[in-house]
Amino acid sequence: MSEALVDRIDKALRDVPDFPKPGIMFKDITTVLQDPELFRDIIDSLKERYEGKGITAVVGIESRGFIFGAPLAKDLGVSFVLVRKPGKLPSKTIGVDYALEYGTDRLEIHADAVGPDDRVLIVDDLLATGGTAAAAVKLVRELGAEVVESAFLIELGFLHGRAKLEGDAHAMLVI
Ligand code: AMP
Repeated sequence: MSEALVDRIDKALRDVPDFPKPGIMFKDITTVLQDPELFRDIIDSLKERYEGKGITAVVGIESRGFIFGAPLAKDLGVSFVLVRKPGKLPSKTIGVDYALEYGTDRLEIHADAVGPDDRVLIVDDLLATGGTAAAAVKLVRELGAEVVESAFLIELGFLHGRAKLEGDAHAMLVI
């Protein structure tokens, strides 16, 4: 991936201090999406990285993982699968609870969304502590599929989230 693209992503991101609570610097990707050439180049760069790798499904994590995951799946010509917050998916699901800073959260996937023949790429906008992506990895593995890699637009490197992930992680911009 070109340094110029990393630089464009960095410049396009909007930092929103103290959102959703004091002390958090929120990395707002809506300003990236408002630049259609940048959005296209991000998806093209991910496509270049993953085509020919035998990926059969892209799994997007609700909700910003859908924004980057769905066009990538379409460009790779593979299935797109949704990992969602509890109670959102209509058919039979499996779920996993994971720890947050305070309390727990839960993610679910349709039980028939992937299986033992699948090679999966997980996609989300941002890797922070890694709890969310680690839960998605767990769900995919529970269904018998292989996780090839987890891909993020942004990684907050100082939180060491990738240590929580089984399998490789790729981030376009590490902060
Ligand atoms: P974590 O489970 O800590 O890795 O958090 C990752 C999830 O929370 C992703 O779905 C992100 O969209 C969101 N998130 C966490 N921290 C931030 C942040 N500083 N800015 C934007 N999104 C964040």
